[in-house]
Amino acid sequence: MQHELSHKLFAEAQKHIPGGVNSPVRAFKNVNSEPPYIIRAKGAYVYDADNNAYLDYVGSWGPAILGHAPDEILNVLNQNMKNGLSFGAPTPKEIEIAKTVKDAYPSMNLVRFVNSGTEATMSAIRVARGYTGRYKIIKFDGCYHGHADFLLVKAGSGAATCGTPDSKGVPSSFTADTLIATFNDIDSVKKITDTYPNEIACIIIEPVVGNMGCIPPEKNFLRNLRKLCTKKDIVLIFDEVMTGCRVAYGGAQELYDIKPDMTCLGKIIGGGLPVGAYGGKKEIMEMVAPVGPVYQAGTLSGNPLAMAVGLRTLQILSDNHIYQDLEHKGSLLEKGLKEVAKKAGEPICINRVGSMFSIFFTDEKVINADHARKANKDKFIKLFHHFLDNHVYIAPSPFEAGFISVAHTLDDIERTIHVFKGALTK
Ligand code: PLP
Repeated sequence: MQHELSHKLFAEAQKHIPGGVNSPVRAFKNVNSEPPYIIRAKGAYVYDADNNAYLDYVGSWGPAILGHAPDEILNVLNQNMKNGLSFGAPTPKEIEIAKTVKDAYPSMNLVRFVNSGTEATMSAIRVARGYTGRYKIIKFDGCYHGHADFLLVKAGSGAATCGTPDSKGVPSSFTADTLIATFNDIDSVKKITDTYPNEIACIIIEPVVGNMGCIPPEKNFLRNLRKLCTKKDIVLIFDEVMTGCRVAYGGAQELYDIKPDMTCLGKIIGGGLPVGAYGGKKEIMEMVAPVGPVYQAGTLSGNPLAMAVGLRTLQILSDNHIYQDLEHKGSLLEKGLKEVAKKAGEPICINRVGSMFSIFFTDEKVINADHARKANKDKFIKLFHHFLDNHVYIAPSPFEAGFISVAHTLDDIERTIHVFKGALTK
């Protein structure tokens, strides 16, 4: 496969942009390679500068659940941009999307829109701290909640991939109040809450982890977490930036029937444009300025194009058939990959929730970050390259989830299984 133009672009980019990329994991450093430069995308496919087509399981890291550039969304964008790009003033679309988000997430009585998932989690935690008057927070090893200073501890994903779980430039005083528990281990949480009675403002969690690869919650883990938070007056924050409208229209909270106190959203709810949102119980969200004393603002927050495109995306996704279809494709992929691995005698663990999945090269069940870290990375890298050489694009890291979209066909799934077979029998 030709990569001449991508190679030239990457060399040029590195002269102007740190590492040639605007987000670290895009650099392909961890798979000892260089990224193809993507120039367009449609449906389930992305196309690079050398005109190679790839069946895409990255989906812009989650947002592209309808596939890339769906005509219906492009039409909405076209119509709305004629009215202007940004006003810095309230718009009717903000009300419509807020109502739609609240319908999908009944735990959110009030919702504030921001520009990214990072802003959403950072702001939600500020509000939880303001509301409780406490400062310590609990997060889980391997969960990523964006790159706010105090959250860059055991942060999974890019940070874990780069082998620098804690970022330089973050004063230790900023992370002193960030306490780390083990995902799927309620006792590890209880230990912390017992050590710091009445000091924990909130617990933030990816209810299905996506940033240590895909790791689902074990039975009752989230329910026990909910009970503990209620008992100790701790604000429970579900970071559903990735799982929101992905594992179900109403996110993991709908799927597992758990009501968090606050929720963070992003990715899918922007339909491909930059968006984040946080919200929750009325009395907590009434802490936010201008109603309450917790400050949070944004020049481009509630951007009219992001709101219009996000709203249409949510309206399309509210059709339950979409999630049945995604579950069907996901289960076929899982079954196919498992069968191939079994025949090849290759021990693997496939974690999947709906259209979100990961392949771990290990013979043990992966239920937390330690397990994910122990899986064989060399085998993953080999698989990654085999996929890419055969025009299948998965995330360039063993610590990322894959995403199936509405645009993936059953033929696409079958081809992926076939290519996987090629990788294991090579
Ligand atoms: N929270 C989760 C669960 C995420 O997966 C991400 C990004 O991948 C974020 C927060 C941060 O979102 P953003 O990259 O939009 O700032």
